[in-house]
Amino acid sequence: MHRLTPTPDVLVAGGGPAGLAAAIAARMKGFDVLVVDPSPPPIDKACGEGLMPDSVTAARALGLDLAGAGYPFRGIRFVSAASGKGVFADFPHGIGTGVRRMVLHDLMRERAEALGVRMAWGARVESPDAAGARWIIGADGGQSAVRRWAGLDASHRNTRRFGFRRHYRVAPWSEHMEIHWGPDSQIYVTPVAEQEVCVVLIARDPHARLDAALPQFPEIARRLAGVEFGQERGSVTATRRLKAVTRGNVALLGDASGSVDAITGEGLCLLFQQAVALADALEAGDLGSYEAAHRRIGRRPAFMADLMLMMDGRRRLRDTALSVLAAHPSLFARLLALHVGQPVWRFA
Ligand SMILES: Cc1cc2nc3c(=O)[nH]c(=O)nc-3n(C[C@H](O)[C@H](O)[C@H](O)COP(=O)(O)OP(=O)(O)OC[C@H]3O[C@@H](n4cnc5c(N)ncnc54)[C@H](O)[C@@H]3O)c2cc1C
Repeated sequence: MHRLTPTPDVLVAGGGPAGLAAAIAARMKGFDVLVVDPSPPPIDKACGEGLMPDSVTAARALGLDLAGAGYPFRGIRFVSAASGKGVFADFPHGIGTGVRRMVLHDLMRERAEALGVRMAWGARVESPDAAGARWIIGADGGQSAVRRWAGLDASHRNTRRFGFRRHYRVAPWSEHMEIHWGPDSQIYVTPVAEQEVCVVLIARDPHARLDAALPQFPEIARRLAGVEFGQERGSVTATRRLKAVTRGNVALLGDASGSVDAITGEGLCLLFQQAVALADALEAGDLGSYEAAHRRIGRRPAFMADLMLMMDGRRRLRDTALSVLAAHPSLFARLLALHVGQPVWRFA
């Protein structure tokens, strides 16, 4: 893209949730912000579309009312696909919300527009200094070009799984978001509307697909039999921890800045929180504080992802863990409280 007039204070590469969150937070601090994205809005992407209560709270700090835009769920249910046995718990405080990705994108774009964020849809940032902006934010997703240009690709960890999403036209059958644990993959189900659920298969195998996997998930297969569904959309879900997320006047945010496995349902929460921390750092004129905040924000979700993924592909461990949790639902409730950042002791 060419030099922009007037030159923005903040150029955001990427108009997905991270780019829009960053733009909203920076604009709320008074910066002139330009968002650039090659796709036309609303932008869709394979996503589980589940927002935990901590995500809903984090979004509120950006002036976004997600609870009003989505379909509520009150907790999480784990199910063993093999035995059909499960355990559930409610969130100690607040509710989760299932929000269709394009609804979320519309909501965020409207909020950004109302604040006066400038947007260039259908354009691409092609070099980090092209626009001459004071600050450049790389919110251009997991394959971030800004990250590469800024020399920030080095990571402590980088593993991948693959997610496949479909919407089914059926009334949600549970007040909980469900994670069904199969032999070498998981299916999770998020209620997103009165007559719609979002179903995601996550596997290490890039060739896995929902139709082929469903027979391994008898409960889900039975509930979805004969139900009308939409297009299947796939995406990589990476577990990536970068060594640094800032350099010079460049800061990374959202999946560009590293990510936790999709099974946590925390990707959006992370980027909402990062956006607020980054805007504070821009205001102070010092990206060092963002570097530290980014590390702190990612710690709990990364820990929870590791804990959950211990059950991926390990049948004995998974069966044992699920039986223990089913026998001790209060333990599951405590883990859920920890997952959404609510003090465990208050839940005793
Ligand atoms: C299968 C799956 C299920 C998930 N489920 C959940 C869930 O239930 N709950 C949850 O909270 N999170 C979930 N996540 C995680 C969540 O979807 C991501 O964390 C989130 O999409 C990251 O947003 P982002 O804006 O960083 O990246 P993206 O959404 O990938 O957006 C990046 C944007 O950058 C643009 N771009 C690329 N290159 C350029 C360029 N050179 N110049 C300008 N723009 C560019 C792209 O067009 C794109 O619009 C899931 C992820 C997957 C894969």
